[in-house]
Amino acid sequence: MTPTFPENQQSAARAAFGLFNPEQGRRIFDRTQGSGFEPRVVDVAPRTWFIQPGMVNVGLFETDDGLLLVDCGCAGDGPALLKAVRSVSDKPLHTVVYTHGHSDHAFGLWAFLEAGERPEIVAHRALPTHFDRYMKTAGLNARVNGQRPGADGKAWPDAREDFVWPTRLFDDRLELTIGGERFVVRHGKGETDDAAWVWAPERRVIAAGDLVTGYLPNAGNPKKVQRYAEEWAEAAEEMASLSPSVIITGHGDPATGTDAVADELTSLARYLRIIVEHALTGLNNGVLPDEIVATLEIPEQLRHHPRLPALYDKPEFICRNVIRRYSGWWDGYPSHLLPASQDAQAAEVARLAGGVAALVERARTLSATDLRLACHVAEWAFLADRSDEDARACYREVLEARAGAEPSLMAQVNFRVSAGWVHAATGEV
Ligand SMILES: [Zn+2]
Repeated sequence: MTPTFPENQQSAARAAFGLFNPEQGRRIFDRTQGSGFEPRVVDVAPRTWFIQPGMVNVGLFETDDGLLLVDCGCAGDGPALLKAVRSVSDKPLHTVVYTHGHSDHAFGLWAFLEAGERPEIVAHRALPTHFDRYMKTAGLNARVNGQRPGADGKAWPDAREDFVWPTRLFDDRLELTIGGERFVVRHGKGETDDAAWVWAPERRVIAAGDLVTGYLPNAGNPKKVQRYAEEWAEAAEEMASLSPSVIITGHGDPATGTDAVADELTSLARYLRIIVEHALTGLNNGVLPDEIVATLEIPEQLRHHPRLPALYDKPEFICRNVIRRYSGWWDGYPSHLLPASQDAQAAEVARLAGGVAALVERARTLSATDLRLACHVAEWAFLADRSDEDARACYREVLEARAGAEPSLMAQVNFRVSAGWVHAATGEV
């Protein structure tokens, strides 16, 4: 089956990532696959630039002793990023800070090294462990992220030489002096446990990595490792306490204007804290995870905040991520502790309903009014008899309708990945 990238997925990706090219999105580690776009280079403060070479942003600070670069993009962004940097400064690359070890932020530096630059590479102490995990889970991560092999035959880095490793690690806080100017590198967990952000006090600029993105934080991604919503809120509050006038975000547009930046950071922190407190209150009161998620309410003002749209993640995914952090894998339903197989359950439901065809008919009726429920019924029909062509078609229709109805990129992607699974399960790959 050919993976598709339908229109609503492309528009969500463009809204979240700016210069998004689906081809690059499928080959994030391919050094020959750039975004194909002319990088955006925005002068955000004296000798300070926001650079967007593709789906990710980079911060550039020029000093008398050389350049401080915060992040370096996807592997394929390297050459365009180098050219963009050289279009505004010819100073040597003094220091690079990785805001975290993710595929889209810490892999474009090779182009600078090949051009002869020898920067200090600063990262949080947990970052090498993050790279180690990438190697251990290369197959899993390539699948979860829909990656295809690049020019070197690899869909995901799996050997030490596939990474540009940091040369200097820090724990909580690191003060750098470059060109006589102070830069503060701070650790704060968020999307990852190895996150760092950079504060330039004399310029009143923060380069935040993915701790700030101009949309609801990626704090609940359904198929990915633990995120840290509470510490994310703490980091946003600490940034707000510094009164920055610009934030170079990890994705999307930069945040500018002292009041607007303060509002964005405090709203982001409040949004996450509401979810964390709701999840913890539910867990402490013995409420089942499903009920905790179903009763989550986000105040109107936050749900409609222009810099916090849920276009990548969803509040309910974040809520489940918090629940997982503080509890075990069991969702509390006794039948789920040592369950019958999904196929056996579905076959029994089909028997009670009077056959797979009855389930298919009901799923199609429900899909006009209640896609969530229709999805369960279509899934029972498919699992009850994977060889039933109409059941397979119905399941795919419902999954596509769900993806089409979702503003969240992660929901869209995962419904469509499931449609691929329907093909795979029936040997139609
Ligand atoms: Zn990112």
